[in-house]
Amino acid sequence: MKTLTSLVVLVLFTQAVFAQKNCGTSAYLDRVRLEFQAPSFRNNLSFAAPQSSNTGASSAELSSQTVITIPVVVHVLYNANANVTDEQIKSQIEALNRNFNKENEDFSKVPAVFASVAGVSNIRFVLAKVDPNGRATNGITRTKSVRELWTNDDKVKMAEYGGVTPWDTRSYLNIWVCNLVPGLLGYSSAPGSPADKDGVVIKFNIFGTSASGNFNMGRTAVHEVGHWLNLKHLWGDKECGSDEVDDTPQQKTYNQGTPTFPKMGMGCSAANPYGEMFMNFMDFTNDASMMMFTQGQVNRMRNLFNAGGIRESIRYSKALGEPWNNTPVTAGTNSGTNAGTVSQPAPMVVIAPVKLYPNPAVEKITIAATSEQNITGQTFAVYSVDGRVVTAGTISANIFNLNISSLHRGIYFIRLGENADKQVLRFVKQ
Ligand SMILES: [Zn+2]
Repeated sequence: MKTLTSLVVLVLFTQAVFAQKNCGTSAYLDRVRLEFQAPSFRNNLSFAAPQSSNTGASSAELSSQTVITIPVVVHVLYNANANVTDEQIKSQIEALNRNFNKENEDFSKVPAVFASVAGVSNIRFVLAKVDPNGRATNGITRTKSVRELWTNDDKVKMAEYGGVTPWDTRSYLNIWVCNLVPGLLGYSSAPGSPADKDGVVIKFNIFGTSASGNFNMGRTAVHEVGHWLNLKHLWGDKECGSDEVDDTPQQKTYNQGTPTFPKMGMGCSAANPYGEMFMNFMDFTNDASMMMFTQGQVNRMRNLFNAGGIRESIRYSKALGEPWNNTPVTAGTNSGTNAGTVSQPAPMVVIAPVKLYPNPAVEKITIAATSEQNITGQTFAVYSVDGRVVTAGTISANIFNLNISSLHRGIYFIRLGENADKQVLRFVKQ
């Protein structure tokens, strides 16, 4: 009976979580704002102001017909599950291309009043053919990670936490695919974010078009790449806020599920006579209900690629050209930039989300769990570089001091735990 109750609770919880799109970009940007207080960074953090008017006429260098091709690298982080097939990845790239270019069949369902302002971006997405070291790649990296669950703290982008360092963000759109915590389907950086955090993170089971359920058409990634290309949510992330695009009607807040047209606005002064554009990709409706970008959104995205624009460098990327480096990948180098044709080996030393300090240390070293982790009760063993166990025991508190005064000077490894969640960290005794 108890099991049954738990199951019912779990099912209810899951439905609640998946009742809406639940993009994490706004919360993510709020978090980054808190974490990075440097003024120069803060100024660049929010979505960039358009670099020209929405007429398109000032984009002299880049006509609206010029196709912008964005090389994409997909970093798959898997553990016991969360792996995705190459076919799933290709289906996602195709979904991006369809939906950014009004080639989606269900565009015919867009009401005429809104179809008249729909835009074709002429932005195309292609899996990279050349990695940052000049080697041939299929544009996919696969990394087995010690972590099973990720959140919007960007550790998925950091090798020291078991994540994968982005490929040069001036030349690639980086997409990390992993298992995100319940309730989070994806999040994106905004243009102008730090280069090592630039890109999009998507939950593995709604990536591509092979999923079932409400998010089965690859449109979470369409929405997040929209953010990566400077689009805001239609309601501007506040009540009756602005998305800084002229041809999207003002909205009080987000829509979810499968609304029916016309859905009249709820009390914004600039309410549109035809109601809210809930079929726009930058709302929170189910995949089956979102099917268009507007011309104003298209202009805002394309402005990033103009001369001097934040993403201009993508136009000069060599990632879709010919490989120029034929030397094999050296064993043991795990830079996070390996070609997708070469699976990255599981790292031997994982700098896990446990802190070890001071390092180097003389008398004692402190092993401290992060807030997400409990290490009390785990076994530990300290190894010298030649593999001998020099001391071992059990961690008795989440902040645990280990006396190392009797060790000789040198490099040591400390292993925490024993099973799949085993972590190995390195320290130096002085
Ligand atoms: Zn969003």
